[in-house]
Amino acid sequence: MPPLEASSGSRRARRAPSPARERAAERKQRLRPTAGTGDPAATSGVPAVLRSLDVRPSRRLGQNFLTDPRVAERIAALADEVDPRGAVVEIGPGLGALTERLARSGRPVIAVELDHRLAERVETVLAAHPASRVVRGDILEQELAALLPGDAPVTVVANLPYSITTPAIEWVLAQGPRVRVAYLMVQREVAQRMTAVPGGKEFGSLSVFLTLHARIEALFRVSPGAFHPRPEVDSVVVRMEPRPYPGTTAVERADAERLARAATVGRRKTIGNALARGLGIAAEASREVLRTSGIDPTRRGEALSVEEWLALARAWRAGGAATGEDAR
Ligand code: SAM
Repeated sequence: MPPLEASSGSRRARRAPSPARERAAERKQRLRPTAGTGDPAATSGVPAVLRSLDVRPSRRLGQNFLTDPRVAERIAALADEVDPRGAVVEIGPGLGALTERLARSGRPVIAVELDHRLAERVETVLAAHPASRVVRGDILEQELAALLPGDAPVTVVANLPYSITTPAIEWVLAQGPRVRVAYLMVQREVAQRMTAVPGGKEFGSLSVFLTLHARIEALFRVSPGAFHPRPEVDSVVVRMEPRPYPGTTAVERADAERLARAATVGRRKTIGNALARGLGIAAEASREVLRTSGIDPTRRGEALSVEEWLALARAWRAGGAATGEDAR
């Protein structure tokens, strides 16, 4: 992921007319100021509210509450751009920093909160918004169809609890085509893995999985000062648009994903050895699949592109190595 601009609000001039430079310049313009310098009143408000609720932020539940109203505004504006009346599922509303702003347009906001004390607080916040409601529980145990019956498209919004980042991303992608887009705040390192390109040190099975199932874009960075308590690392707001990788079947995507997971565990291993070990097959069988798919067995797994993982998956299945059960 290219570096995200974090400080000044100045829009940078384009340096050259080439399309690549223009795209980079446009991107920089969008990645305007970060947060972390927010309204001091809002910043001091969160600890006071937490004290009044007798809540000590839980690390286990990834409770770093947004204190900068400009960040909440900026994220909510992204959802408005999609559709100001369209339904939103918010994962982990906390004290409702984003929730109220999202519900203001009258759209249905379904806010799923695991911590009952916070859920109660958000119920109060949403009392003036009859189309919205709080669901008490674990997002990972919910079904979108039950949260929002019908077939209207849904936007997912979350300042994700770091403790469940990857499962929550998988949850969003498991909800099917009704999720048209998700705006997710994640740790910067996770955003780097989400947007990594093959060969880079961040590229791993999460990057392969996401490329197979979504279009991902890092939008802007948020500094630790925008939260209470302060996290140790920067965060990044990521746009995730679910879509199957073009020209692939569900079975091919599932196979490629499984192979990438199996073979990128021991990152310093060659793909030949990593595949054999990850899949529990003989080294010769692994080399054969690689030979059929035209991939040099001495390369490293993290250097393979998604197209190559797909080629590998097709060769693996054609060779009869995969069973129906394997493709789940
Ligand atoms: N959205 C709020 C904000 O931006 O200030 C709070 C964000 S805080 C990073 C994460 C929130 O997710 C917390 O309120 C936490 O209790 C909640 N949470 C943690 N695990 C959850 C889960 N499995 N399902 C639903 N909510 C969860």
